[in-house]
Amino acid sequence: MKNRNLLMIPGPIEFDPAVLSAMGAPTTSHLAPNFVEAFGQALERTRQIFQCPDGQPFVLAGTGTLGMDAACANLVEPGDRALVVNTGYFGDRIGVILERYGAQVTHVKAAPGGHPGLDEVETALKAGGYKVMTVTHVDTSTGVLADLAGLAALGQRYGALVVADGVCSVAGEDLRMSEWGVDVAFTASQKAVGVPPGLALLVAGPRALAAFKARKTPAGSYYADWGNWLPVMEAYEARKTAYFGTPAVNLVFALNVSLGQILQEGLQARFARHARISRAVKAGIAALGMGQVPLSDAIAAHTMTAPRFPAGVNGADLLPQVSQAGVTLAGGLHAAIKNEYFRIGHMGAVSLGDALATIGAIETALAACGYAFQPGAGLAAAQKAYLA
Ligand SMILES: *Cc1c(COP(=O)(O)O)cnc(C)c1O
Repeated sequence: MKNRNLLMIPGPIEFDPAVLSAMGAPTTSHLAPNFVEAFGQALERTRQIFQCPDGQPFVLAGTGTLGMDAACANLVEPGDRALVVNTGYFGDRIGVILERYGAQVTHVKAAPGGHPGLDEVETALKAGGYKVMTVTHVDTSTGVLADLAGLAALGQRYGALVVADGVCSVAGEDLRMSEWGVDVAFTASQKAVGVPPGLALLVAGPRALAAFKARKTPAGSYYADWGNWLPVMEAYEARKTAYFGTPAVNLVFALNVSLGQILQEGLQARFARHARISRAVKAGIAALGMGQVPLSDAIAAHTMTAPRFPAGVNGADLLPQVSQAGVTLAGGLHAAIKNEYFRIGHMGAVSLGDALATIGAIETALAACGYAFQPGAGLAAAQKAYLA
């Protein structure tokens, strides 16, 4: 018997074998020619994945939270005003980070599973004076997908720098930085980018870099200061070396492999694959009589699904049973509804087989919990949606 579960949480995810073998290769010097080439290429590819031809990529050792921290530390000066389009847990977090760097923060909040309307955000922006507006592209605590194009256009209209938390979206959902007017976006390696945890990827567009260069005070974080990393990123991209902090050599090799695979698949084909698998999972969940946290399909993400536990099933019993059936899923994260739902990640190298295995394991677990349903109903609906 296979002695490990299928990992279907919103990061870390299942990784491609070629990516994992790059992780296990002997570690080179960070100055070795093959590493310089891999890092340089990974930076070029990062710019492509973020769809920001004139952006400056930063690949840093750290997690997605470092991406959030770097965006805030480099853009905010004490007293600046910041608007958080808040759809849950990570909106709350970026609000705390912005405040840590001295910003006066206003939140436009939605009920769990909802999204603030563009009109509400515009009303807030009209009040004026926001230097920064942040948006969580996919809110991992609710599975809600923001209308980032619409929000970014508003941010641009009212003169705010638009920061997108793309940790649960980049390389799984379409995120067109340049075309949409997103000034900073970031993600983490362990989500749709498909590399074990440990790297933050951030791209700063020209307006964000100009705002950074115009600062009157130094960035509030030493490690995250773009001024420290910019010469390093520029050097490696020019296939030269420079030092500030030792790069995560094996992770960068693995990143370059994964980014190569992503571009090989093609961004649009990859987004379409995510959408198709998402439709299959969501159809399977619905056929089993479970609701979902996003208040409508139109605002549901394609990188994850957030099903509500069905009536009569205790969440604390269900997830261990799903794990017993061979698939690891995640519990709730949004404080207001934490015990009412669970989370399925389906991003990166995810396949139809993974989606069906997940729905099958959920069916097995529901049966173990004594829930009445037609066995196979979820699988049939998933397969039907996939083939439609
Ligand atoms: C996972 C996640 C983060 C935090 O990333 P870490 O790597 O856990 O620090 C931030 N924002 C969103 C939307 C996420 O999904």
